[in-house]
Amino acid sequence: MNSITGRFAPSPSGYMHLGNISVAVLAWVSAKSRGGEIVLRIEDLDPARSRREYTEAIMDDLQCLGLRWDRRAEDQSRRGEAYRAALDRLQTYPCYCSRDELRAASAPHASDGRVIYPGTCRHLTEAQRRERTKIPCLRVEVPDREITFVDGLQGPCAMSLQREWGDFIVQRADGVAAYQLAVVVDDAENGVTEVVRGRDLLSSTPAQIWLYEALGLKAPVFYHTPMLLAPDGRRLSKRDGDLNIRAMRERWKPERIIGLIAWLHGLTDRWETVSAKELAEGFSWDRVRREDIRINVNSL
Ligand SMILES: [Zn+2]
Repeated sequence: MNSITGRFAPSPSGYMHLGNISVAVLAWVSAKSRGGEIVLRIEDLDPARSRREYTEAIMDDLQCLGLRWDRRAEDQSRRGEAYRAALDRLQTYPCYCSRDELRAASAPHASDGRVIYPGTCRHLTEAQRRERTKIPCLRVEVPDREITFVDGLQGPCAMSLQREWGDFIVQRADGVAAYQLAVVVDDAENGVTEVVRGRDLLSSTPAQIWLYEALGLKAPVFYHTPMLLAPDGRRLSKRDGDLNIRAMRERWKPERIIGLIAWLHGLTDRWETVSAKELAEGFSWDRVRREDIRINVNSL
């Protein structure tokens, strides 16, 4: 039996780019370096943004890079029942606030622009709820407590759920489970023991760790990897066409792409040609860079 299970959790809303391929490479080598397995889960919660052709493309690209998964979990779009069952075990309430109302409320804003929910609808009476005509989302009551954890790459982290998040959304008004809930329920169901993902998700982690606790589930170990930035500090994204996997595959062999990622993340001293399998041999998180990485796409 495998004691380590990592995962690929792509959203089929576009082609992979250097950023999310980097995360996939690190997730794969981390699990494989210790004899673990990888589960593939398609995160197609948002039906409007998900396309089947991207699912196919992502699977083809991962395989081409030598990043094979050991099993495929159920797609998130098919897991509504499991999310509803989890919701039943949480203390939730309907929230009728509009985006504008939330922005107008004098709630503090987190550094990443997230609106911190001031708890407006928490204490509405049944009669007040019946008066509302808007279809509500569901929020979960969070405790006034600091959540602490140790990130495998970034080190000790602490965050107050009340101050940094407020009661957060667990089900959207359209009935779709919120990402925070779905990812926790699925990682637990899929037996995931380690989550490797971009540092942009670090601020979500305390909310998820608390959800694991509230649902009586064991949280995995998290490794939040640095972001890839343009020389001006802007985040590289799918808009940077040059770093789209399809464009990269036209220019370079898979081992060159893996080598680029290894070099950018500090695993090698220069841009070598290396396979994912070779990279897994002797892999250690001690060598992975923590700080965000600035690259000039045009100079590659
Ligand atoms: Zn509200």
